This record gives sequence, C-alpha cells and structure tokens, in this order.
Amino acid sequence: MEENIQERYEQLEKRVLENNPSADTARLRSALAYADQHHGGQLRKSGEPYITHPIAVAEIVADLGLDMDSVIAALLHDCIEDTDSTHDDIAKQFGATVAELVEGVTKLTRMQYTSKEEEQMENLRKMFMAMAKDVRVILIKLCDRLHNMRTLEYQSERKQKEKSLETMEIYAPIAHRLGMQRLKWELEDLSLQYLDPIGYKEVQEELDELTRQNSEFLARMQRQIEERLAQEGVKCTVYGRLKHIYSVYRKMYAQSKTIKEIFDIYAFRVIVEDIPACYTVLGCIHDMFKPVLGRFKDYIGTPKPNGYQSLHTTVIGREGIPFEVQIRTWDMHQTAEYGVAAHWKYKQGMANSKLGSEKEFEWVRKLLESQQDADPDEFVRTLKVDMFADEVFVFTPNGDVKSLPAGATPIDFAYSIHSAVGNSMTGARVNGRIVTYDTPLKNGDIVEIITSKSAKGPSRDWMNICKSNEARNKIRQWFKKERREENIATGRAAFESELKHLGLSMAAITATPEILDALLKRVRFGSLDELYAAIGYGGMSAQKAASRMKEELSRMGRVERQNAERQAMQESLSAGQTIFPAAAKQPGPEANRPRRSESGIIVEGLDNCMVKFAKCCTPVPGDPVVGFITRGYGVSIHRQDCPNADPARRKPEEAGRWVSVSWVDGEQASYRTSLEISAKDRDGLALDVAMALSTQKVKVNNLSARSEPDGYAMVFLELSVKDKQELTGVINKLSQIPGVFLVKRAGG
Ligand code: MN
Repeated sequence: MEENIQERYEQLEKRVLENNPSADTARLRSALAYADQHHGGQLRKSGEPYITHPIAVAEIVADLGLDMDSVIAALLHDCIEDTDSTHDDIAKQFGATVAELVEGVTKLTRMQYTSKEEEQMENLRKMFMAMAKDVRVILIKLCDRLHNMRTLEYQSERKQKEKSLETMEIYAPIAHRLGMQRLKWELEDLSLQYLDPIGYKEVQEELDELTRQNSEFLARMQRQIEERLAQEGVKCTVYGRLKHIYSVYRKMYAQSKTIKEIFDIYAFRVIVEDIPACYTVLGCIHDMFKPVLGRFKDYIGTPKPNGYQSLHTTVIGREGIPFEVQIRTWDMHQTAEYGVAAHWKYKQGMANSKLGSEKEFEWVRKLLESQQDADPDEFVRTLKVDMFADEVFVFTPNGDVKSLPAGATPIDFAYSIHSAVGNSMTGARVNGRIVTYDTPLKNGDIVEIITSKSAKGPSRDWMNICKSNEARNKIRQWFKKERREENIATGRAAFESELKHLGLSMAAITATPEILDALLKRVRFGSLDELYAAIGYGGMSAQKAASRMKEELSRMGRVERQNAERQAMQESLSAGQTIFPAAAKQPGPEANRPRRSESGIIVEGLDNCMVKFAKCCTPVPGDPVVGFITRGYGVSIHRQDCPNADPARRKPEEAGRWVSVSWVDGEQASYRTSLEISAKDRDGLALDVAMALSTQKVKVNNLSARSEPDGYAMVFLELSVKDKQELTGVINKLSQIPGVFLVKRAGG
C-alpha cells in the first residue's frame, strides 16, 4: 500500500476513534485492505489511486458521527459497482448490514436522472429516498456525492455542469429534507461554482467586502449581546455567521434584490441550555434593539417539516444595519446542522467531544439516557416506514419516473402512460422479464408494456387488479365506448329491477312519448338506450335514475291534477258531459277478466292501465283500496280510509273518476309505505327501531328521528313490505319497543 494512502487511512481511523474510542479498528483495517485489493490499479481522474475516494467518503461519514457499519460500508461503497466484489462476498466478511448498505448505495448510484421537468425531479427525489430501505444508505450516498463535488475540478466541463445540476436538483433538496443544513449548503455552493462561475464570484466578493466593512460593527454587536445575557444570568454561546453564497445568490437573482436588501445576511446564533432560556434571550434582544415587524418566527412552537427548531427575529442595530438573531438549544442546534444524522452523533460518546466541559453538555447525557431504550435499528425502521409508504416509483424504458400508488401493477403503469397503451396491452416486462398483470411493482423497476393493434382490450377483472383510480376510470371509459350493446342489456335489467323496487312499472314510464321525454330530460339523457348504456358502464346508478323519474312522475301528477280540476270545472259549467275520456272507453271483450299486472293492482273496467300508489297513504296489499283516474296519467291508488279518498269529501264533479280496484293475489313485489312512531325520547331509541326492523328482515328505505318538546320523539320510517300482513307484524313489533306508545301509518 502506498504511503500516501496509509497516511489518509490513519486520519480516517483517528476521526473514527474521536467519535467512538472503543471502535473496532481491526475491522476497519480489513475493510480498507478489501477495498484496496478490489479497486486494484484503478485511478481517479485526478491521477490518484481510486481508493483515496472511498477513504475520503468514509471520513465524511465518520464526521457525521454515523456508526461503524456505515463507515465500513462507505469504504466499500464502490466495490459492487466497479469491481468483481459481490453482495455475498461482503456479507461473509463484514456482515449482512454492511452488505445491505453497500448494495443500497449501489442501487442509488445506478439511478438515472434524465428528465429535467419539475414534476419529474420531485418524483426522482422521492424515488431516491424510497429506494433506500435504510436511511444510512442515503447518508452515505450524500457523502459520496459531496466528495465527488469537492473533486469535480478534474472532470470535463460537460461532466461538471451535469453533475452540478444533478446535485442542485436532486441531492441538495434531499439533504434539506433530511434537515442536514451543513451538507446542503456545501453541496449548493460547490454546484453554483460550476453552474454560474461569474455569479458565484460576484456574490463572494460582495460578501467579503461587506464583512470587511462591518466586521467592527458585528464584533461590537456580539459583545453587547454576550454582556447583556451574562447580566441576565443566561448561560449561552454567541457567534456570528454569514449566509452561505448560494442562498444570497438566490435572493439576489430570483427575487432581484440588492445585497443590502437581504435582511438575514448577518445572523447571530445564541445557543442556550433549555427552551425557557430561548424566550428569555428573545426578550432581551427585543429590549436591546428595534425588532423589524413581521420578521419574528417561532419554529420552536411550530418546527419545520424537517425537524428544524429555533426562534428567528430580525432587529436593527444602532448603525441602522439589520441583522438576524437565531436562538436555539444545543440539541436543536445539532438537529439543525446534522438533521437525521444527529441521531448517531448523540448516541456515540459525546464525552470526548472537543466542545467544552462535561458540565456544559449535560443535555447530551440526558438525551442519551432518554434514548437508551430506543435501539438504533428501531430508529432506522421508523424512518424508512414513514417515507413514502403509500407510493411506488418506477421507470419507463426512456428513464421517466412514474409515481403510482403502493401495490400498483403493470395495468396501472400502462394506463398512467396513456389509455391507448392500456387498451392495447398484451403483456408486460419488468426489468426485462415477462410478468403477469397482477405483479406488484417495486421501487426502481423498469417497466415496459407490450402492445398490439389486434389486442382485444381490457377485461373487466382489470378493474379489480389495478390500484389507481386513473386506470379504473380509463378502463370504465373503454367499456362505455366499446361495449355499448352489452352495457345496454345489463343497464336495462338493473333499471327495471330498480323500478320494481320503487313500485313503478315500465308502462308508467313509457305511457306517452311526452311523459317519457320529460322523464329522460330529468336524468339528462336523450333516449332510454343512452340511459341504459350509462347504467351499464357505471356512469349512473340505476337507483338514482329510477328515483329521479319517480319524483318527476309525482310532480307531473300534481300539476296534472290541478289542470284536470280546472278543466273539469270549465267543462261541467259548459256541457255537463262525460268528464274523462278513459272512463268513457268501451270495455273490451276481456275487460272483466282479472289480469296480472306489474303493479299488483287490477283496475276494474280499464285495460292495460297505468297505476301509481298515492303518497299520502302508501297502500300495501291487503289494504282496502280505491282508485282515482287522473287526467292522462293513469290511476292513483288510495287506501279506502285515506282522508283524500273519503266519499264524504269527494267532489261531485269527480264522482265518475273514482273506480274500484283490487289487489292481485300472489304478487311478490314489495310496496313502499310510511310509518310514524311516537315515543318517549331516550338515547338509543332510533337504534332500537332499526334493530327491530332488521330482526324482522324489513327493507328500510329511510329512517329519521327528531326530538319533540317535553321529552317526546318522533321516528319517521319509509319501508318496503309485501302486504298488509307483513306490515301489521312490523307495527306490532315496533309497538313493543320500550318507550314507544303509538305506531301509526302515515296519512291514515
Ligand atoms: Mn463513489
């Protein structure tokens, strides 16, 4: 091994021991030997032996405070990708965890970043995070990228721009999301240096100039703050910091501000021991300097999504120069700088940290104690479960990323490209292998859909296999267009059975072209076939269509009745003739024979008659009934005891319209009717009613309850029964419910 490499290794080992004095350095040495042997004579662009890169990455990883497995994995991170080393080989020598980490990093290295659209970027970032089963994989990959960026000068100009853009768009945002500010800033500044060398230099020079001009002022401010806080007895560390170059650059160019207009170019950090001290410091600062309105932010009460916590305020010093003050505790500070990595930093002995005396760092010990039972594996597990558990990210053969719901299949993928792709799919390949349509896709899979012009189109099963609404809707659309006849048949069957449920007949709907037209208009369809087709492919429910038509029919009935009354009055005034044409119709030869009818009612003397059940009294088979001939709209059936059918109240001019009707025996249809229950109000009353109905196996269409004054309650029921006998049984059962004192039929 070259001397130079030996030296670099010693430095790495020293760094590891600083963080963890009991580290197993023999393991580290054998990892170095392994990596060195495998990378053999490989050289970097700089001309140095390749092994210098993994050593440097391992050192950055050790600096972050990550554990020994991570440092070793960093040393080996390019072995699988660039040498003949394998996962099993590494697992045998360094354990399964190290092998998993190296393999994870290799996967991320192989990720391709092709598209540059914003949405694609976001998907790539998410996929990057989702592909790592262990957050340490991401951290090692970020360190790898950081070292590559630090040594980018040896690459070609094209490569420099490419890598810098990738870093700016993928890696820095990921570092930000993980709360690793320090790493993020360095990545951004390095990238900017290559992406806009002139802009970078300008900002850098302006910042240098400002620092020169104001160094005295800044030193004085720091002293003043320190003195004041010492007087108040607040234990703290104060230091000044300058904004990093890229964030100034972004504000100057994106928000077109001059450097003087950026409020937080200078900031002081005040780091204290606990949260109450943060607010004490804030009070002191606002007492010493004039705060800038609207610039105070409390990220302690409301932390940023990446876990960042601090108080921020901007104040104006006596020279009129604004500066920001950030106030936080030590653990908030660690989290702010290292994000998720701070977790490992806490775990490993801070006792031999370079920072201050033991007493000053009591918070670290406390934190370590409180985390003693939370094992690091648990921490890693919770982190990875939280990241995008409900999404899966896959590639198209062109390298575009598609985000699909977790568990998505090739069907979802095909329809996410285009419905034409889904509809002509005849097979699918995942990572080059033919798979079945129900194969769940995994993060990073490359999915290819095989299509054919002669494909038969989707099958209805696909709607159950796919996971995304997009695919389901597109398949439904296909059936809507391609399977019209099938849809019409299934739609018609569903619609007719629903009509029957509502006690309506097909004949009632199609009685006259005018009625049919009005009803179709109500459901916004041009013809019955269109309506059936829509029901067939699921665009409208049969229930909705039928109940809307029923509403419309009864509305028309009301209007008709009023018109009929008006007309009857006029006619009787003028002529005194037969009032209603239907009633005057001559009975046909079969008129007197009872006829089966869809409604379950036979109307005496009238052929093929349209029937509807009056809403006021909702008769059921077994009730004595009577019919009223409406104008142009069939016969309305009332109970004989209905007030609206009371012979004493019938209008003399309508006498000819009352006809006798009877029930057909053995009809199996069900009839809607309504009940009103009066009871003492109590908790669970409606529930008891519902229970009683369900034990009686009654079909309930509607149930509502309302409290009345003086501790009473009313329950309103709409239900479907076969006949009066069944209804009587229901009424008896309901009357037995504790607190119920009256069950009565509506309108009776
Ligand atoms: Mn590398």
